[in-house]
Amino acid sequence: MLQLCALMSHYPIIHLKSGKEKSLQRSHPWVFSGALHEDFKQFPEGSIVRVLDNKNNYLATGYIQYGSIAVRVLSFIDEIIDADFWIKTFQNSFNLRESIGLIDSKITNCFRLIHGEGDGIPGLIVDFYNGVAVIQCHTSGIYYQLDLIQNAIQTLLGSRVDAIFNKSKETLHGAIPDIENSCLWGSADNRIVLENNIKFKVDWTTGQKTGFFLDQRDNRTLLGSYSKNKKVLNTFAYTGGFSVYALMNGASHVDSVDVSKTAIDLLKQNMDLNAPESNNHQAEAKDTFVFFKEHEDLYDILVLDPPAFAKNIGARHNALMGYKRLNMEGIKKVKKGGFLFTFSCSQVVDSLQFNQIIMSAAIESKRKVKVIHRLTQPADHPVNIFHPEGEYLKGLVLYID
Ligand code: SAH
Repeated sequence: MLQLCALMSHYPIIHLKSGKEKSLQRSHPWVFSGALHEDFKQFPEGSIVRVLDNKNNYLATGYIQYGSIAVRVLSFIDEIIDADFWIKTFQNSFNLRESIGLIDSKITNCFRLIHGEGDGIPGLIVDFYNGVAVIQCHTSGIYYQLDLIQNAIQTLLGSRVDAIFNKSKETLHGAIPDIENSCLWGSADNRIVLENNIKFKVDWTTGQKTGFFLDQRDNRTLLGSYSKNKKVLNTFAYTGGFSVYALMNGASHVDSVDVSKTAIDLLKQNMDLNAPESNNHQAEAKDTFVFFKEHEDLYDILVLDPPAFAKNIGARHNALMGYKRLNMEGIKKVKKGGFLFTFSCSQVVDSLQFNQIIMSAAIESKRKVKVIHRLTQPADHPVNIFHPEGEYLKGLVLYID
């Protein structure tokens, strides 16, 4: 017992200012720098600390990050962040994916295993692609735990995993000098995954994020269900998620647009993988607005899934104006009686703001517009109820007369 107490107290302590404990008491996993009593920069970035209130009561254990969010919480129990901690935490995440049918599914072998705060691990993403676990660290605190994280993945997934790839260069370039994306274990060559029996080649080495947008799985399924005999335009198409679903569900024609040539090349490969004989699809590497200007065609279904227009609150106003302009232009391209699938993945734009901006685009368009679905991220991208900021993906399906 004595030994246990000694272990528990070995992390350095940082105190909150008086009255700043409410947020941690409500299990919100962030501590803002202004709430701290001591200078958090006395600790190296990434180091683990115990957070106490101003009366020395324990509140949480987390890691230091230099920025406005100064501590990100890993545990609300006074415990050691060791191999057992990571295995226990990953087990919870694994159990959820098992309960929703994603582990050992016959039709889908790619899913998100760890979704940051949603799985109780701020700063960590782990995506599973047919045997390869792709890790993305968003903070140095998580990066320093990489060995234990790798161990937890191998312990939990066993023979289901044969390679682990660390894709953290883009997210950590400022914090960890000389970091490179690299295979940590096994042979992580790009491979083909199955999502609802549809094949996609995923490229985590050069692709965006961890290689694929797993968060649109359910929304792609919905689009597929409306696609039969429809003419579909998928803008911001990336590697063609929505496009392939449309085609495989009987769309009469699919056009895809993305500004990235690399993405369009992979999109074409994905079309060929699933429908090698089909000649009713086209893809262009082009800016969406330029495409809209150059083509007069109208579509039965239009998808607008742009990258996050706002990365922080300061950029929110411009982002909202960007969504308005994009959706005004988009609505013009939809036939009478057609559908618009429109999305925002900007975390700082909430669903109310998104709805309002789409409404103002609809008003300007002078069309009759009905909301028929409100969409979000799928169950393997859970939202910690104490961290509502985690609800980042918002979508509306509009029926446009
Ligand atoms: N819907 C996709 C994911 C889209 S991610 C899927 O389900 O996989 C956003 C994409 O928008 C990226 O591929 C990026 O290259 C592209 N993009 C960014 N700006 C663009 C622009 N102005 N015009 C067209 N594509 C753009």
